[in-house]
Amino acid sequence: MEISDGFIGAVGNTPLIRLRRLSEETGCEILGKAEFMNPGGSVKDRAAWAIIRTAERRGELRPGGTVVEGTAGNTGIGLAHICNARGYRCVIVIPETQSQEKIDLLATLGAEVRTVPAVPYRDPNNYQKVAGRLAEGLDNAIWANQFDNTANRDGHYETTGAEIWRQTEGRIDAFVSATGTGGTLAGVARYLKERRQSIRIVLADPAGSALYNYVLHGEPAASEGNSISEGIGSSRVTDNLKGTPIDDALVVPDQEAVPMVYRLLREEGLFVGSSTGVNVAAAVQVARRLGPGHKIVTVLCDGGGRYYSRLFNAAWLAEKGLAASG
Ligand code: PMP
Repeated sequence: MEISDGFIGAVGNTPLIRLRRLSEETGCEILGKAEFMNPGGSVKDRAAWAIIRTAERRGELRPGGTVVEGTAGNTGIGLAHICNARGYRCVIVIPETQSQEKIDLLATLGAEVRTVPAVPYRDPNNYQKVAGRLAEGLDNAIWANQFDNTANRDGHYETTGAEIWRQTEGRIDAFVSATGTGGTLAGVARYLKERRQSIRIVLADPAGSALYNYVLHGEPAASEGNSISEGIGSSRVTDNLKGTPIDDALVVPDQEAVPMVYRLLREEGLFVGSSTGVNVAAAVQVARRLGPGHKIVTVLCDGGGRYYSRLFNAAWLAEKGLAASG
């Protein structure tokens, strides 16, 4: 397939990249699914397209309609691109604490950005709930609802999971991933487990997230600390994550994830964001636990270009007590 049909045709089918130095070091084959190569720049292009195509198929979204979502991150960017490509209006509701960079980017992509006060999820004025109500009040509109709309994980089952299985020719021992909505981990884990039950599924959690305890003890409970990683970690078990077959979990502190981002840049030539640092650091830990000779796949979620003012800003890192080398 040399030619992709528009933006949407270019979503997915990303390369699986062998991380050469880390593979050499561990004696395992550590492979990263290059999601930063999606046309909107992140793994969330897949979820955005899955949610929109499912709504179209169900007749919930018709030509000229509106897509509403509460998100400050990659999902909003993916939705804005796809709305442009399909002729939809895109409304993004975000908490006012989000950086101007993100608001500007979404506006440049043509999304209508509505900022609301930053209040917790249980508050009815939380940005996600505002997005839901806004969509309800509009004709021919959907609330993307990436956390609990299982079209998200189904999209990853159909594409990301199937691609990993095909690209490794079924020779895969473990899949390791952090989760935000749970879409990536749930979709890929389900696909791989259906093919071979013994493939190990490992959740990588940033500090402060409740999912490590959920996997190990059955109850979500926040771990200690607070991570700089954006888009991953959760205080609750989303509908996308519910029922996912997960064998193990580990917590990756920023002190490990950040140096890994810089190693990927300097040693592998890959410019990625901090959730990728969490994923790859976790994949290396899994490689060490399993021992040499195993094949481990993880996700390279997005590119580093979205994080100049933070992860790639030495003064900001120092303020957080973090350093580029571990
Ligand atoms: N990394 C980044 C940078 C993200 O924006 C997201 C999405 N929130 C993830 C990882 C996690 O993906 P998912 O929502 O599929 O769990």
